[in-house]
Amino acid sequence: MSQIKLTKPTVPFSEAPWIQGLPSSIFTSPSHVQLREWARNFTDEVIVKIGAKYVEAGRITDDEAYQRCAKDGVLFAFATGVHVDPKIAKIAERAGVSLPAGIKMDEWSNIHDYIIWDELNRAASAVMMGLLGGLTYGTGPLMHFCSDEQKERWLPEIFSGKKRICLAITEPLAGSNVANLSTEAKLIEENGKKYYLVNGSKKWITNGIYSDYFTTAVRTSGKAGDSSGISLLLIPKGPGVTTKQMKMLPGGASGTTIVEFDDVKVPVENLIGKEGDGLRLVFFNFNHERMTIAFTALRLSRVCLEDAIAHTRRREVFGKKLIEQPVVRYKIGHMAREVEALQAWVESIVFQQMNLTIPQSNLLTGGTCALLKAHAGIVLDHVVRESLHLLGGMGLTVGGTGERIERIYREVKGMTIPGGSEDVMLDLGVRQQLKLVGPQSKF
Ligand SMILES: Cc1cc2nc3c(=O)[nH]c(=O)nc-3n(C[C@H](O)[C@H](O)[C@H](O)COP(=O)(O)OP(=O)(O)OC[C@H]3O[C@@H](n4cnc5c(N)ncnc54)[C@H](O)[C@@H]3O)c2cc1C
Repeated sequence: MSQIKLTKPTVPFSEAPWIQGLPSSIFTSPSHVQLREWARNFTDEVIVKIGAKYVEAGRITDDEAYQRCAKDGVLFAFATGVHVDPKIAKIAERAGVSLPAGIKMDEWSNIHDYIIWDELNRAASAVMMGLLGGLTYGTGPLMHFCSDEQKERWLPEIFSGKKRICLAITEPLAGSNVANLSTEAKLIEENGKKYYLVNGSKKWITNGIYSDYFTTAVRTSGKAGDSSGISLLLIPKGPGVTTKQMKMLPGGASGTTIVEFDDVKVPVENLIGKEGDGLRLVFFNFNHERMTIAFTALRLSRVCLEDAIAHTRRREVFGKKLIEQPVVRYKIGHMAREVEALQAWVESIVFQQMNLTIPQSNLLTGGTCALLKAHAGIVLDHVVRESLHLLGGMGLTVGGTGERIERIYREVKGMTIPGGSEDVMLDLGVRQQLKLVGPQSKF
């Protein structure tokens, strides 16, 4: 065996094997370790420390953490996702933006994307989504489908934190069935200029309340249910756009919002891609969105295990530490096997996707990625339930030992419903795989 340097975690199962220094086939570059160490400090300093006031207030109340994310390249990293296109790299450089931890633009990959999501989620706080959720999902279509002119117009101010953005697809009557959306965008002409006149409403929009731009799915033709009449528009906040924060079970920092469009005039130059092609553009980014939810559920599961195991090693009940009870170890064993198996599946799909183009990855890993997203939520659902139980009353107490577990307990449905609900994902995963193998051969 070659020489390996192990870092022993203080709590078993609290770190992925590669973080402990165990051999790995994917975390092979020094830049992976560099980014991980950097992101761990960033999480403690920004998401946890500065973020405490946002958790308390139930919303992001100032620009302090967002501007740190901008300055340190975190906004750019989350917007760019799994790969930095050379043209985008030039736009970022001109805007004075670089990647975190000094990672080179041409080196950034799916693995770096996983690492930064994993580390920032250690905070187990909605502040992360409050700062970065809308940006990640709202910028995706801009990066892949905007013209060069549109990219130059919008991306510099997004990367540098001057403007905030979110993804506005879901409507009160169109959630799992996106094709059902009815927000209307009617082509009009005024003083020789063409606009879309937008009317309708969007619901459950992450970061909507903080946003200056809305990457919005609209209906340019056809009726609700007709997928070919959907287009994508970048709608700036302005006359006719109103936002109202919703009260949600997990609390408020992620800024879940109702967005109303009332006779909003949007220049035709804000159409992303072609008219009628909106649904394809939305679906193009779903794979990445689902991976990021799986990354989140995986880290949150580890956080639960970490805090639950630490508690069972401290807490004495009936004259014994809880960890000395075989039944307690049995529960922990079940949680640990689920988390380690999820880790292996995540790493395997990250590796596959890294070695495929995005269209190939959507085609070949779309089904397994939907199953992974569902599975990650199911694992978290079980792990948080058992962990909270092991903490007894502490698990139900806001603040203190059970703080992260209690927060995750309120968050867990925020993993299993958005980005494709669990049952819909399980069904989609099977349908996609059936499609890949084609019709059954006759014997
Ligand atoms: C916290 C949060 C953040 C969100 N952020 C955003 C955002 O930023 N942008 C955005 O556009 N949207 C966002 N959403 C909306 C989210 O994508 C939808 O809530 C989700 O797609 C489910 O749609 P729905 O709520 O309308 O549920 P429905 O579509 O009404 O489904 C309800 C339930 O029915 C079941 N179901 C539905 N269809 C099927 C089926 N075919 N087979 C089996 N079971 C089925 C599922 O159990 C599902 O959970 C967010 C939602 C939440 C809760």
